[in-house]
Amino acid sequence: MRLHLPPADSYYAASSTASGDAQRALLQGEFRADVGIIGGGIAGCSAALHLAKRGYRVALLEAHFVGYGASGRSGGQTIFGLATSQKALIAQVGAQDARRLFDLSIEALDLTQSLIRDYGIDCDYHPNQVHVATKPRHLEELAEWIHELHRDYGYESAGLLNRLELQAHVRSERYLGGIIDTRSGHLHPLKYTRGVARAAEAEGARIFENTQALSYEDGTEVVVRTPQGAVRCQHLVLCGNAYLGPLSPPLARRILGVGTYMIATQPLDPARARMLLPSNAAIADINWILDYFRLSADHRILFGGRVSYSALDPPRLAESMRRRLVRVFPETADVKVQYTWGGYLDITMSRAPDFGRLARNVFYLQGFSGHGMSLTGLAGQLVAEAVAGTAERFDVFARLPHRDFPGGRLLRRPSLILAMLYYRLRDML
Ligand SMILES: Cc1cc2nc3c(=O)[nH]c(=O)nc-3n(C[C@H](O)[C@H](O)[C@H](O)COP(=O)(O)OP(=O)(O)OC[C@H]3O[C@@H](n4cnc5c(N)ncnc54)[C@H](O)[C@@H]3O)c2cc1C
Repeated sequence: MRLHLPPADSYYAASSTASGDAQRALLQGEFRADVGIIGGGIAGCSAALHLAKRGYRVALLEAHFVGYGASGRSGGQTIFGLATSQKALIAQVGAQDARRLFDLSIEALDLTQSLIRDYGIDCDYHPNQVHVATKPRHLEELAEWIHELHRDYGYESAGLLNRLELQAHVRSERYLGGIIDTRSGHLHPLKYTRGVARAAEAEGARIFENTQALSYEDGTEVVVRTPQGAVRCQHLVLCGNAYLGPLSPPLARRILGVGTYMIATQPLDPARARMLLPSNAAIADINWILDYFRLSADHRILFGGRVSYSALDPPRLAESMRRRLVRVFPETADVKVQYTWGGYLDITMSRAPDFGRLARNVFYLQGFSGHGMSLTGLAGQLVAEAVAGTAERFDVFARLPHRDFPGGRLLRRPSLILAMLYYRLRDML
């Protein structure tokens, strides 16, 4: 089976209205821009939006269509913090920068909501996200986490839930407690990505679809070659993430595309759906290989989980995902799965995002490590600030140290599979 089942099979593709989204032209001939951007996910579209707003002439190149990558396939949970812990960040960059990173992750949540509001993006946004515990050890971890959030970061929108309180958000015997955050939430990721792209165009950016960037040459002027043309620009921003492939081997070595999967059930009777998820919150457990789920606007359960580190889709995917859903909600045993799809998570060795420069005028954003729904939007804003000459906030991220995945091209996946077996065993304890 092909890895990362195509987005056309997804519930998101089936439920996005086409209005305003007629296919965009591919690039033919030469195009001059102040800034070229590669990748039409949220990171690239947000960079295009924020640069165009500042008056730059922007050309964005997307190999397929806007939202083709992780941004259009995601679980859609917008969550505070980064994919790695604050403790790990403090060890890497010190308490002051770790604090800045946390604050920027909160700003990212607020930016997502303000983009939705300011550009009238219809993407089914709903507040509330809950991290849940599946074992007693997790309860201790959650208690320690909330203590840290309140004491060290003054983050009061998150609160601890005991088993009984949790029932107001998720009616499952599987969970022992949780942390709810009212500032986090969930949205329809493909509608949102397309909305950000339309906002960028409204501000004057040009987006070319079906236009793969084949190579680029840097210098005072950067030249990006495509099958039928070229973009000549003063600055380039690489936002191809796990889909970037051979365009930049140094970036590809620092990131691993991990296959992850989702299903959408048939629509449930609204009352039945609300019985399972009474507050319409998004839920994610805190295992290494986690289950995450939520309701769609038309009362389906969108359920994500499973990973593949092997570049192959797991066999009998839809059925094994359905079994995971029934493990959470036994009463859904009769519910049919209507859509199954997957995509690449963009993980770094440290699980911290990887932003930086390959040359003075070549920037990149990647490695959101499964935590990119809201941070990608802010990343686009920060890179626009950096292009404009104010890089302080971008550089808080750029200072994070990153390493290549070990093992070279041939051995990096086998070594990762071994590491994952370890974490899978840990999840069982
Ligand atoms: C199944 C799944 C569930 C997820 N769930 C969540 C979640 O609930 N919450 C959360 O925060 N995060 C989640 N994530 C992660 C999140 O979706 C990503 O971190 C985020 O969308 C990354 O956005 P991006 O713009 O950096 O990259 P992408 O959205 O992957 O976009 C990259 C784009 O670049 C294009 N491209 C690449 N190379 C080239 C080239 N050479 N020329 C032209 N175009 C190119 C690709 O076609 C692609 O469209 C999930 C991811 C997956 C796959």
